Amino acid sequence: MPFNQSGNENLGKALLFLKEFDAENLDEKICELKALQICCRLGFTICKHCNHHQMLKGELQRMYRCDVCRKEIWITGGSFFDHVRKFRPYLASFFLLERGIILSASDLSNVLGISVDMAGKIYKRIAKLVSEKMQGLGSDISTTELSKIVCRRTIETPARQSPLAEEVEIQKRLALCEPEGSIEELKEPELTTNEVAVLALLSELPTTFAAICERVRLECADASAAVMGLELWELAVRLPGDRYILSDRKTKEASKAIDSKSQKSKQSKAVLGMIDFVEERFQGIGRKNHQLYAALYWIFVDRKRWGPGSILQLCAQSRHIPYREILEYVSPPTIKILTRA
Ligand SMILES: [Zn+2]
Repeated sequence: MPFNQSGNENLGKALLFLKEFDAENLDEKICELKALQICCRLGFTICKHCNHHQMLKGELQRMYRCDVCRKEIWITGGSFFDHVRKFRPYLASFFLLERGIILSASDLSNVLGISVDMAGKIYKRIAKLVSEKMQGLGSDISTTELSKIVCRRTIETPARQSPLAEEVEIQKRLALCEPEGSIEELKEPELTTNEVAVLALLSELPTTFAAICERVRLECADASAAVMGLELWELAVRLPGDRYILSDRKTKEASKAIDSKSQKSKQSKAVLGMIDFVEERFQGIGRKNHQLYAALYWIFVDRKRWGPGSILQLCAQSRHIPYREILEYVSPPTIKILTRA
């Protein structure tokens, strides 16, 4: 049973969507056929024993005998559906995810009539694939920002310690690797008297070099050295026609600060969104799985990218993901988080 109101609503929606799913996919046999069709869209399969390209005739089956070497060819072999015994739970999970319905493993197990363990495995396999699509997208956030939702122990949690000890260990290791004073700061300019005099004269309106010489009463060579100095400090900009204006270094710094602030506020919105998402559905998670839940959160918010058919398509084209890979997976100190496209 869901532990809160939104969990109840979610479960209600899931049941309605499942009715729709079952109307299209009457039984396990049809689900299997659908998955097999996707695995062999090209109409042939390749025998891994003798490399024979075998045409597939008649109704699709999971196993064929090679026309050449007579050995078994399993058409789901090496695919996402490798070792899958029942296809309906997978296809129904895709269907729900593609409609933005993400349940807790125990609710998923109830509505699909499978074990909680199996439900968790289905989600994690999908999340692993989706997380691989996040490279190069979204924002990087430190997993310390998600500490609030860490309340489950995993195989990575140090013995007899709290689930958060996992994060502490990661941060300790990270601190040991980081060189000291690696943050580069913008150097404050050290200006000469002449440079200060010229700088005071410049504005956003162009001033000719001749006017500079005249107004600060400098020899041509000294004035030239001063404007060059200011250019080097990026305080003045030379325009065509030997004219100078005040550079927008200050403006640039300000806009950089604003950009980074708005970037940070976008990120913190995403972090808060993910925290709500996890708390509403799963109460809490283990630290090592942050990236996988960030992938589920992406599916949840980006309805355009992960609409009907998208997850089925992704999984149909994917390799097999052994459960060991999920078990051994540990989210890095910085994870990707994505909101709407
Ligand atoms: Zn063969």
